[in-house]
Amino acid sequence: MTRYIFVAGGVMSGVGKGVATASLGKILQSKGFKVSCVKIDPYINVDAGTMNPLEHGEIFVTDDGTESDQDLGNYERFLERSFSRVNYMTTGRVYESVIHRERNLEYKGKCVEVVPHIPEEVISRIQEAGRIDKADFVLTEIGGTVGEYQNMLFLEAARMMQVQNPEQVFFVLVSYLPIPPNIGEQKTKPTQTAVRTLNAAGIQPDMIIARSELPADKPRKQKISQFCNIVPEYVISAPDVTFIYEIPVNFEKERVGDKILQKFGLKGRKQDMRAWRALVRRVRSLKKTVQIGIVGKYFEVGDFILMDSYLSVIEAVKHASWAQRRKPDITWLSAEKYERNPQAVRELKSFDGVIVPGGFGNRGMEGKIKAIEFCRKQKVPFLGLCLGLQLAVVEFARNVAGIKNATSAEFGGKGPAVIDVMAEQKALLKEKKYGGTMRLGAYRCRLKKGTKAFAAYGKREVSERHRHRYEFNNEYREKLEQKGMVFSGMNPKSDLVEIGELPSHPFFLGTQFHPELKSRPLEPHPLFLEFVKAAISRK
Ligand code: GLN
Repeated sequence: MTRYIFVAGGVMSGVGKGVATASLGKILQSKGFKVSCVKIDPYINVDAGTMNPLEHGEIFVTDDGTESDQDLGNYERFLERSFSRVNYMTTGRVYESVIHRERNLEYKGKCVEVVPHIPEEVISRIQEAGRIDKADFVLTEIGGTVGEYQNMLFLEAARMMQVQNPEQVFFVLVSYLPIPPNIGEQKTKPTQTAVRTLNAAGIQPDMIIARSELPADKPRKQKISQFCNIVPEYVISAPDVTFIYEIPVNFEKERVGDKILQKFGLKGRKQDMRAWRALVRRVRSLKKTVQIGIVGKYFEVGDFILMDSYLSVIEAVKHASWAQRRKPDITWLSAEKYERNPQAVRELKSFDGVIVPGGFGNRGMEGKIKAIEFCRKQKVPFLGLCLGLQLAVVEFARNVAGIKNATSAEFGGKGPAVIDVMAEQKALLKEKKYGGTMRLGAYRCRLKKGTKAFAAYGKREVSERHRHRYEFNNEYREKLEQKGMVFSGMNPKSDLVEIGELPSHPFFLGTQFHPELKSRPLEPHPLFLEFVKAAISRK
C-alpha cells in the first residue's frame, strides 16, 4: 500500500518547502522505505521550460527531458535517485490532459467541470508516480502558499484523497515564525492564520514544521499546538542552517521520521544515514576555501542578488569542493559589467576558477566572451556549461582561429555561425513552437581517450542531460582542431559536439550538456571535481 504525504507552505514562500520535502523523503528512505516525490507548480505554463529563471528559479531537466522546477533537483540530490515526468505537474499540464481527454470523448458526454475533474486528474497523476516508482510513500509538494487562489484545486485534491483514504494520507505544513527585530520574539500568529486558511480548505495538518531563524522553543510549540489544534510533539522546530544537507539530520533530532511512521501505524525497517551524517560532519569541519567566480546574468533582481537560477551549478560546486575538503566561496560576476567596462575582467585573476553557466539570448553575451578570453589567456581554470561551451567556441574561433566576427546563430549577428541551429530546430522556430522543443534530457556522449574529459570520467561512454537549441557547427571542427581545441566528447549517433577542451591549458573545458544536473552530495560530478582540483592547484 502506498501512503501519501502532502507538504504545503504557510505564511510566505522561500522558507524551504522543497528542501523540507526532500529531507522528509530522505529520512523515510533511510528507514528502508521506497520514496517518490511529486512537485506541483501552480502555473498555467505547461512546464517550467517557458518560465524566466529570474522569476521561477532554475529549470531542472530530468533524464526523460522534463523541464521541471528546481525542487526536483533537491529531491534527486537528497534521495540520490533520478526522477521523471510523473514527478512534476503544473496547472497547465493538468488542464491540458483533461481537455485532451474531453476532446477524445473520454468523459462519455458528461459535463466536464473544474471540480471534481481537475482534482481527480491531479490525484491520478500522484497515484501514477506511486505506481511507477513502486513507492511506499509519495511526498507531494504543493507549490506556493496556502491562501493563494492558484493552489486551491491542488489542496482540494489532497482533501479528496484524505476523505477517500484517511489512514493513507498525512499532511505537513511548512510555516514560518518571524522574529521582528523591534520585538525580538518569535511570533506564531502568521502560522495560526495559515492553519485557519488550511482548515477553511477542509484540511487539518498532522505536522507543522516551524521554520525560523532560531529554534522554536517550548512556549512557542505549545502556542502553535493549542491554537492550531495539533499535539506539541508534531510541531517541529526547523531553524536556519548553514547548509541544506544538515536538515534531515536536524529533523531526526526531533524524531520526525518515527512520528510520521507512528501516524501510519508503521515501524522503520532500518536506519541508515551514516554516509550522510559523515558528510555533514565533514562539511562542518572545513576551514580552507576555494574561490570560484560565476559569470552570469540571472541574479540581479532590483536591489537583491538571487541565486536560484543557478542552483544546481552552486550545489555541484559545493559537492566537488567538499570532496576536496574545501569550502567553496562563490562570487557572482555580472557579464554585463564586462561589456560596459572590458578592463574589469582583470578581477578574474583573483579567482581560483571561473564558471560560465547556461543562458539564453544576447544580453551579457559579449561580456561572457571577454571573461572566457581572459581565462584562456591567463590560464585561469575554466568550466563552461552549455552556453559556456558555445561562447568558448565563439571566443576561440574569433581570437585563435581567426574567424572574423564568429558568432552563434542565437545572437542574430552577421558573422559565421560557429554555433548554429539544426534544420529541425529551424522548422520549429519558424512555427513558433518554443515550448518543450529544445534538445532535452539524456543523450549519450563518447569520450576521446587521452583527454581531460576521459581522465575525469574514467570511461568511454557517459550519459548527460541537455537543454539547448543551438549546437556546435561541424563545418568548423577541423579548423578549430588544427588550432588546438580538442573535441573530447561526441554524441555517437548524431556526431554532435558534447565537450570541447584545450590541452595546453591547466583546465579549460566546456560541455554542451549540463553536468551540474547530475551531481549529488555523496557523488560529486567528475568534471566539477577535476575543475575544483585544478582551481585548488592554482591556489
Ligand atoms: N542558449 C543556448 C542554446 O539554446 C544555450 C542554452 C543553455 O545554456 N542551456 O543552445
